[in-house]
Amino acid sequence: MKIFIKTYGCQMNERDSEALGALFSAQGDELVSDEKSADVLLFNTCSVRDAAERKAKGKIGFMRKLKKEKPHLIIGVLGCMAQRLGDELLAELPHLDFVLGTGQIHKAPEVVAQLRAERSRLALTEPFPEEVEMLGAHGESSWSGQIAITRGCNRFCSYCIVPYVRGREVSRSQESILLEAQSMVDNGVREILLLGQNVAAYGLNGDIRPPADDHSPFAELLEKLNEIPGLLRIRYTSPYVSYFNKRLIDALSSCSKVCHNIHLPLQSGSNTILKAMNRQYTAESYLEKVAQLRAAMPDLTFSTDVIVGFPGETEEDFLRTRALMNEVGFEQAFIFKYSPRPGAKSAELEDSIPEEVKLERNNILLDDLKARISAKLETLKGSVVEVLVEGVSNRNAARWTGRTGTNFVVHFEPDENCTPGTLRKVEVSRSGGVSLFGRLLPEDK
Ligand code: SF4
Repeated sequence: MKIFIKTYGCQMNERDSEALGALFSAQGDELVSDEKSADVLLFNTCSVRDAAERKAKGKIGFMRKLKKEKPHLIIGVLGCMAQRLGDELLAELPHLDFVLGTGQIHKAPEVVAQLRAERSRLALTEPFPEEVEMLGAHGESSWSGQIAITRGCNRFCSYCIVPYVRGREVSRSQESILLEAQSMVDNGVREILLLGQNVAAYGLNGDIRPPADDHSPFAELLEKLNEIPGLLRIRYTSPYVSYFNKRLIDALSSCSKVCHNIHLPLQSGSNTILKAMNRQYTAESYLEKVAQLRAAMPDLTFSTDVIVGFPGETEEDFLRTRALMNEVGFEQAFIFKYSPRPGAKSAELEDSIPEEVKLERNNILLDDLKARISAKLETLKGSVVEVLVEGVSNRNAARWTGRTGTNFVVHFEPDENCTPGTLRKVEVSRSGGVSLFGRLLPEDK
């Protein structure tokens, strides 16, 4: 069978799609990138924003024509939108064959086989497995790989639908993560990205209270991963700020393979809005954690997520967010205009901020970010940075790209020893846009 998989949304979805592909490949199916040649179309969807759902529905709706031409075609929707809408999707899209929620994705090969044998339609959206059923082996071997260490979330931020579509937070055992990491490294992986809605709460059994200062199962996991020979870098996303206790900060600064870049969602710099969002920290406590982290790792860079136009956000609230972002000096930020998600708590509030105000606030933060990034990149001119080589640049085939541990992309001309997944030094000569350009240094420098 030829299988086409299209992924929407976050890295967790990308990881699930990769594992989904591996499940079909393992039974001899072929993964194709062209939907017209496929026997099975799988759409792994996202529900976090209204726009993501509309985009996926638009694309799936468009497949009706293809189904008319190829009646044997099987079309399935998986992931968060599938979990949220279930049977409603079957009713809305009559050419759809099946819907699998977030806890059922691993059943896709079985469901496809069943539907090929007896043409029918089905939606499986429950229950969430007690134990996280992690999907199987990774797809193609490459220098980078992702491991989901937790699934779901217990925090119930008022704007967020994740706890409803991904279920409660569950952590994998340390043993199974280490086995997976070792097997990835044996297959050539050099950088591992640890994934979870709230990675820093790993191993806390869903308790949302920050643990005592000397307890962090996530820190223990990082230390064990750090010992794997052949693994060069460890990244993780996303952590919730409250879990950065002394134990974790010590591990982050002492584990040489853990990259000095943290994606630390802020969402708002106003305590009133943070409270309305059910984010259990204040602007002051967030800044304090940033200061503690910077004191331990002075070269640390930060990225973040921010929502503008949350119900009731005044100009003053917005200016607090703006000031806090400038104070932290985030090197990267994902700024979203608030949109209510049906099912999330904040959808009960009036979406009171006009669209043009949301857009204006969004643009102000983006302009600040742009100015900050160019100023930051300028300071790196003349320095020598270490990059993990990624391969040929997408924009210019004569150049290669690599990424610093602090997450800056660097472009350079390769030498004959340049290999993806190796660490090399580059002397930075200039910056352009959001990247750096430089000269690759010989290997022994
Ligand atoms: S921490 Fe909040 S925003 Fe993040 S997944 Fe959990 S509920 Fe959603």
